[in-house]
Amino acid sequence: MSVVLKARKLILTGSTASTSKSLAHTLLIENGFITPSSKGLYSLLPLGQRVIDKLCRILDVEFQKIGAQKVSMPIIGTKQLWDRTKRWDAMGAEMMTFEDRSKNALCLQPTAEEMCTDLVANLSSLKKSMFPLMLYQINEKFRDEMNPRFGLMRSRQFLMKDMYTFDMDSNSAQKTYSNICRVYDRIFKNILELDVIKVEADSGVHGGQISHEYHLRSNLEEDFVDVCKTCDTFTKSSSCQCEIPNSKKSEFERINTVEVGHTFHLGTKYSKEIGAKFPNSGPLDMCCFGIGVSRLLPAVIDALTISKEAIRLPRAIAPIEAVVIVKKSLMTNVLVEVTTSTATRYLKGGVMLDDRSEISVGKRIRDANRLGIPFIIVLANSTERSMVSGQPLIEVFSTQPKSDEVIPHGTL
Ligand code: ATP
Ligand code: MG
Ligand code: MG
Ligand code: MG
Repeated sequence: MSVVLKARKLILTGSTASTSKSLAHTLLIENGFITPSSKGLYSLLPLGQRVIDKLCRILDVEFQKIGAQKVSMPIIGTKQLWDRTKRWDAMGAEMMTFEDRSKNALCLQPTAEEMCTDLVANLSSLKKSMFPLMLYQINEKFRDEMNPRFGLMRSRQFLMKDMYTFDMDSNSAQKTYSNICRVYDRIFKNILELDVIKVEADSGVHGGQISHEYHLRSNLEEDFVDVCKTCDTFTKSSSCQCEIPNSKKSEFERINTVEVGHTFHLGTKYSKEIGAKFPNSGPLDMCCFGIGVSRLLPAVIDALTISKEAIRLPRAIAPIEAVVIVKKSLMTNVLVEVTTSTATRYLKGGVMLDDRSEISVGKRIRDANRLGIPFIIVLANSTERSMVSGQPLIEVFSTQPKSDEVIPHGTL
């Protein structure tokens, strides 16, 4: 059963105005999507949580469609396991470490290649028919970033979707890699309708052979890609056997971006060290695939928002799909129930009744516009019709508010 959400409960603002250089971060704080906890750590408020839940649902549907299975691994890892791939030291100061009461060195997992490889190494039921084995989780990751900033964009705790795939040989692993990259394209381009930039990338500390990064344009200087002015292709110069020669630099334009996803064909680096293999066969061939789920929230707003007055999110992940705004004198009108129940039947992304009748209709329309709610249903006198530029607006207004014979009109 769909529930009509109430604005009075859902909109929890109160944080002081943010002075961040990031417009997305400012909008998220000021409109009650997130609230700061301590350095690089944030709480999601109900509106922000709804966006994240929608993102997770999209990822679950799209990855399970191709046969990936969801798991949950511990967020605490052991130095013992990380030492097997020599990555405890390689991760350096970014690794958040601590000791248990027996002085065992532990970490809050920044990523989970070792843990997932170990999980598979310990399975005794591997059969050929299980391949490709595709396991993913969506959970918190921890990195003691040198410079946590811009809220969820670079935080010390963040939500990541991380998938690890296992194949019998390199050719099959490359097919798996391509299949999952196609799902990435579908999620970013078709479902979220984003202008995502895919570039060949550096495998960095993860190791491996092939790697791609997915970037969104950003006005922050978090990352960059180079665009060839003549052929319009994108490169990441640090990744492509390195730097663009000086003579060619004028052919490229550097644009600021933020990385929202990263995929790797890892090969056998982890499976060899940790012993993940098929009985009587060589080490399994692995790929891994990350998406910065919580980073997507500010990154998408940064990419789509043009005015500091209003958040813009893709319809698929807007916190609410429609708001019903009712003029105070009509709050008890039968049309309120009819409108909200019809809207909840057809709009599955959540319908909110803006029951804050002490606030004028015009101000509530402005609030809905600011929150990036795609559809605004106004139930008011015809004289109170109001348009929000660039926003599809269904107006349902009463011509005779005092009578029971009110006639709804709709414009889209
Ligand atoms: P960056 O280059 O921005 O530091 P990364 O290359 O270190 O990111 P990966 O190890 O590839 O990140 O992790 C997968 C994804 O997790 C990234 O593509 C990004 O979207 C997200 N991510 C990484 N670090 C953070 C962070 N500190 N806060 C929020 N999201 C992050
Ligand atoms: Mg990093
Ligand atoms: Mg990176
Ligand atoms: Mg990366």
